Amino acid sequence: MRVAPVARPAAPYRRRKRLILWAAGITAFAIFGYDLWSPLQGAVAVLYIIVVLLVAQIGTYRGVLLTGLGCGILALIAFATDHFGDPLDSAYVRFGVSLVAIFAATLLSLRDRSARTTLAEQARILELSHDTVIIRDANDRIVYWNDGAHRLYGWAGEEAVGKHCGELLHCEFPADQVDSALEQHGHWAGELMRDRKDGTRIVLASRWLLRRDPEGNAIGLIESSADVTEKKRADAERRRSEQRYKTIFNSAGFAIWEADWTELHGHIRKRVPSGLDLAGWLANHPEVLRESRAPVYVRDVNTAAVELFDATDREALLGNSILAWMPAGSEVEFASVLAGLAGGADMVEREVRYLTLSGRPIDVLLRMRLLAGGEPWSRVLAMGLDVTERNEARSKLEQASAELAHAARVSTLGQLAASIAHEVNQPLSAIITYGKSAKRWLAKSEPDVAEVANCLDQIVSNGSRAADVITRMRALARNGQVQVETLHLCRLINESIALVEREVRQHQIAVRFSSGGEDVLVTGDRVQIQQVLVNLAINAIQAMCDVQGRLRELHISVEAEADVMMCVSVCDCGNGISGDPARIFEPFFTTKREGMGMGLSISRSIIEAQGGRIGAANNSDHGATISFTLPVAAADQPIRKGAMDTSV
Ligand code: ADP
Repeated sequence: MRVAPVARPAAPYRRRKRLILWAAGITAFAIFGYDLWSPLQGAVAVLYIIVVLLVAQIGTYRGVLLTGLGCGILALIAFATDHFGDPLDSAYVRFGVSLVAIFAATLLSLRDRSARTTLAEQARILELSHDTVIIRDANDRIVYWNDGAHRLYGWAGEEAVGKHCGELLHCEFPADQVDSALEQHGHWAGELMRDRKDGTRIVLASRWLLRRDPEGNAIGLIESSADVTEKKRADAERRRSEQRYKTIFNSAGFAIWEADWTELHGHIRKRVPSGLDLAGWLANHPEVLRESRAPVYVRDVNTAAVELFDATDREALLGNSILAWMPAGSEVEFASVLAGLAGGADMVEREVRYLTLSGRPIDVLLRMRLLAGGEPWSRVLAMGLDVTERNEARSKLEQASAELAHAARVSTLGQLAASIAHEVNQPLSAIITYGKSAKRWLAKSEPDVAEVANCLDQIVSNGSRAADVITRMRALARNGQVQVETLHLCRLINESIALVEREVRQHQIAVRFSSGGEDVLVTGDRVQIQQVLVNLAINAIQAMCDVQGRLRELHISVEAEADVMMCVSVCDCGNGISGDPARIFEPFFTTKREGMGMGLSISRSIIEAQGGRIGAANNSDHGATISFTLPVAAADQPIRKGAMDTSV
């Protein structure tokens, strides 16, 4: 163990010590000499007390002891020299008294030395103390002022000692309280305010002790104080900030609650097979949230949370498990929140469904984060925004726009009525013709079975063709839910061209389709995208029907756009769009006598709802091009084969 180095005494002290030791030595020899030659017979030995007292001023414990012993031996030598062999007389008594006196002086010196050492140490402790230590007399005059007081108040000991404490420090304290505490218990502890030398006011935590004389009379006070100004300021700031936080917490327009997820997290952790991480495993096993039955306790909620969960007050929610409000089927979202946080995300945002205390389902946009401090998962902060009404309004809007799109499709079908009739009529006429022909072959004296079979094959094939047309029309006319699925884009374009085939033929339009190779997969609603394609094709055909003197060509092309989107362009060589091309997407904008001006507006909302964009531009030579984009399907998305999977 290393021992702290002991500081060497200061030079003046060393000089004084040397002087005293010399004086003590000389005195001892002088006494010894005088004792040998004087006729006082041992009485001189009592003077050795002077030597002991001299050494006691500066000597160590051992030094004083050895001095006392040495003096005794010198006295003995002197006495023995003079009185060796003398009969017992009064000289022996005087010598004995001298030895006792030397012995008593040595003992008293040693005791006094220990007492002085203890006092010096106590004084040093007071000096070392960081706190201020002030001793006052009965008149409030300062009699002791430690270094701590110097450091804190700014006055040195020489400046402060002797001054009136109250006047020096402008003390402000609860006088009545202090008086009664000192009177009853002899001490007081509390806070007071004082001025420092530089005039700044400080707050102190102080302890006062009443000093009493042996008769029990009060003779002053000892006080020890510590500066708590900074702590008080920090406490006040913390209280203010807590108040601010509470105000924000309670007046926030959205629900906030803090919950303890420790039990649930621990329970799920145990279920995760070793070697797998919790986040990844949980994403595939959301059901453990319900199975575990481990609670997630609510620790704190704000007023908005009380309203959100239809609770009467905070107490109705506090201490309850939040998982009790998780309706069946919503585990996936909750598990993904937990997995996100377990995966180290700073904050996780999900839309989840809760059941309120009154059993009402609500949609909540939830933001969750783990709070620092305490055990991990013991403080999970959730902020929830009630989006139930917004979702209801959105679903009503979606329904309305689906109905509008349906109305537009029916209207498009109206425009295609002649084509449809023709499409259905053609196979029907063929069926009748082949039916009659078969009858004739049967009516022969020798019925030709092979010809009849051929006629029947033709009847079946034409019947299927007519059925296909009707199926396509029915699909376009249906008013079903929007179904986003993976589609073969080129196949869908070909089916749409087939729907307008008669119009194309009627107006002698050449149709060109360039896809640049393989069919591509996109995501979207089959019926709605076909509606857009048919609408664009009809507009293009109508734009070209008056064109004379040049080739009427409808060119549909597909090309990739930034790898994540496919762009379909419908280009015609009509007269182009007059005015700003963007206007054609405005509702009710039409230049046609019988037009409604809703087709492109609906097309735009359909494309944007599927994550794409639509735009129009005039071509550099003739006509216009309307283009729209659709997101490319992810590789693992399932492909649904549609009822209209036919090609032209
Ligand atoms: P409607 O066909 O009932 O007028 P749309 O919304 O389909 O409604 O079209 C709006 C308008 O956009 C049309 O009246 C026409 O003026 C213009 N338009 C659409 N497609 C073309 C095109 N290919 N060439 C020129 N103008 C077009």
